[in-house]
Amino acid sequence: SVPVIAVDGPSGSGKGTISRQVANRLGWGFLDSGALYRLVALAALRRALPLDDADALFDLARNLDVHFDAGGAEGPGVFLDGQRVSSELRTEACGDAASQVAALPPVREALLARQRDFRVAPGLVADGRDMGTVVFPDAQLKVFLTASREERAQRRYKQLMEQGLSANLQSLLDELAERDRRDTERVVAPLKPAEDAVEVDSTHMSIDAVLDEILSLAAK
Ligand code: C5P
Repeated sequence: SVPVIAVDGPSGSGKGTISRQVANRLGWGFLDSGALYRLVALAALRRALPLDDADALFDLARNLDVHFDAGGAEGPGVFLDGQRVSSELRTEACGDAASQVAALPPVREALLARQRDFRVAPGLVADGRDMGTVVFPDAQLKVFLTASREERAQRRYKQLMEQGLSANLQSLLDELAERDRRDTERVVAPLKPAEDAVEVDSTHMSIDAVLDEILSLAAK
């Protein structure tokens, strides 16, 4: 079957950046599963649906009109109802709402087939929380990428600063703590390493070092 590299881990561990680069290096496809949860959240916010209405969100997730493109200089394009929403998806508000809708089992169920459809030759790098545990349990390589909460908050702080946005380190830390709690304590598909995952702690590693580590694991 088509090979999959599953990269899971908490918010801000660098999964997104790194898995995208792994996919580029290998010439494989890339699944940003978090974007799907963010899209459901954004669509719900736009329709003013309560973020805990499981029935309504199930329908929304099943019928979501989304597409992705490789994107240009501004990064990869994500479209909701034909409209480019890539930057709106990255906001804290959207990430926070995503972690709320992601706690609903019907929403996760509705997104399952959509995620598996990304598995096409020659291979797929899948980034998320449950890629190795639920969505692609037969993945050839499972990486659980972590970093200390302080380091993850620092990285996000730097990123926001570089974008000319204002940020407060303490509130970023608080938000991460809340997001970690929601992602690890939920009943369905909680964030945890698959039994056969390789744990990589990137706290004291550069992006290139993590990239090399994963590529060498993939070559084994
Ligand atoms: O990775 P990202 O920050 O974009 O994900 C947003 C939220 O979506 C996460 O906090 C998590 O609650 C949820 N998520 C999930 N399962 C995934 C990917 C994301 O529950 N595979």
